[in-house]
Amino acid sequence: MPASTVSRLVIVGGGTAGWMSAAFLSSLFPSRQLSLTVVESAEIGTIGVGEATIPPIQVFNRAAGIDEAAFLRATEGTYKLGIEFVDWLRPGHRYMHPFGQPGQAINGASFHAWWLRLRAAGYPHPLSDFWMSEVLARKNRFDFPSTDPRTPKSGLAYAYHFDAGLYAQFLRQIAESRGVRRIEATVANVALDGADGTVSHLDLADGRRVEGDFFIDCTGFRALLIGQALGQGYEDWSHYLPANRAVAVPSQRVAPPVPYTSATARTAGWQWRINLRHRTGNGYVYVSDLISDDEAAATLLANLDAPVLDDPRFLRFTTGRRRSRHKNVLAVGLSSGFLEPLESTSIHFIQHALIKFAATFPLAKDDPVSAGIFNRIMAEELEQVRDFLVFHYHANQRVGEPLWDRARAMPIPDSLAEKMALFRARGFAIFPNQTLFQEPNWLAVMLGQGLEPQAYDPLTDGAPLEEVRSGFDAMRRTIAQVADGCRPHEAFLDDGAAAVMARARA
Ligand code: FAD
Repeated sequence: MPASTVSRLVIVGGGTAGWMSAAFLSSLFPSRQLSLTVVESAEIGTIGVGEATIPPIQVFNRAAGIDEAAFLRATEGTYKLGIEFVDWLRPGHRYMHPFGQPGQAINGASFHAWWLRLRAAGYPHPLSDFWMSEVLARKNRFDFPSTDPRTPKSGLAYAYHFDAGLYAQFLRQIAESRGVRRIEATVANVALDGADGTVSHLDLADGRRVEGDFFIDCTGFRALLIGQALGQGYEDWSHYLPANRAVAVPSQRVAPPVPYTSATARTAGWQWRINLRHRTGNGYVYVSDLISDDEAAATLLANLDAPVLDDPRFLRFTTGRRRSRHKNVLAVGLSSGFLEPLESTSIHFIQHALIKFAATFPLAKDDPVSAGIFNRIMAEELEQVRDFLVFHYHANQRVGEPLWDRARAMPIPDSLAEKMALFRARGFAIFPNQTLFQEPNWLAVMLGQGLEPQAYDPLTDGAPLEEVRSGFDAMRRTIAQVADGCRPHEAFLDDGAAAVMARARA
């Protein structure tokens, strides 16, 4: 008896989610065990604007058997060390959410607790001076993290910016080379088995029929299988995150690409800027009640630093989620829900779903026990990230602008209120180990958004202040020197393959 009776898996949709699913699953399951088919429509386009990622994507790429240098070349990719938030607290203010962490814990207290103690005594240097990812990003330099805890490079972490369309093509080549079958056609009907309500097959518009034991719905916002065929409803989170439109436009590259994403607050939302090797990605995420599409496009175009390369593209969405695994269907990508791209988390949720799906792979077509666990894990992760995004809006001082006034006044989830209270009381940001955004992530954004702790960790009171101060001063100098010794980001990209190989040998 095989461990699972699922041997034919059909992926519907050939966007980022569809091809990530195919590349990942084909690296885990040999084709003799699991046959994989991707059905993608030439008539229905992809969203194709997911360009910024977060560090866990490296785990996914490795698991999918992807070579970093080849991937960066194929996708016009750049490195990413964090996200800069401009004007979010108030106009004229900026801060960064850098990846990685500042310093190491000392005597049981986190690094930032020592810094808070110093600051309470008048220490003038910001925490960002001790955050290697931010120091490098600000100097437009790059290097890989080190496993040696004695160097500040051990605190680095990185992700990528890339062209999402090229990423899907790259993944498609990998998946097809491993035997994944591709069918180009539009699905006209999703047929259910009358006996148990599972999906039995797909009827294609050209008359063909595709059968499978299990189906992955990667049809984007259409949610053709999970929503339309299986009727899984959508939980709307617009009351927390009201942005519901975006307008995106690529522009010419004008300067060497910086290794961070920019998010600039605007009256009705915020504007992203993502440096790729061959162009710059730009977009304005906005609330349609507060600004018309034409005004949003005009604002975006007025805030570019180079000529556009295409017409602006308008996108609509509703923030929220749905139960993404039901019967013999798993929804991956936009079909499972959407959180605005403020912290670049959508592609992460694709990989998270795939990794958790593999860990709870269905033992039979309909495996409600595995599905139940999977759905709980996804729901918890999404809620944690939702809280993180809500916090960016809620903790603002942009007085007199309806979006921002409302965000300050809105009721927030209890889970977020608790995190804020803890941080305000004593500068802690402790969270369950399993969640995506951990203490350093919240710390950067909480301090950046002006949330001030009223006390510092008593564990830091044991050491003489002068000793702590001179230790910090020395560390600050070392970090600046090490950063100055790293290569410019673009030079690093130019010989990326050599650098990746050197790292593999180190
Ligand atoms: P889509 O790209 O919509 O693909 C759907 C696929 O389904 C297509 O291939 C289509 O042909 C196929 N299809 C649909 N119906 C049928 C049918 N009947 N028959 C056959 N095929 C069908 N994510 C990030 O991680 N970082 C970002 O910076 C980021 N920025 C974003 C900005 C905006 C404004 C938006 C809206 C999203 C952003 N995302 C970002 C999210 C990211 O774009 C998506 O997560 C990603 O593109 C996955 O999309 P998808 O594959 O689920 O859907």
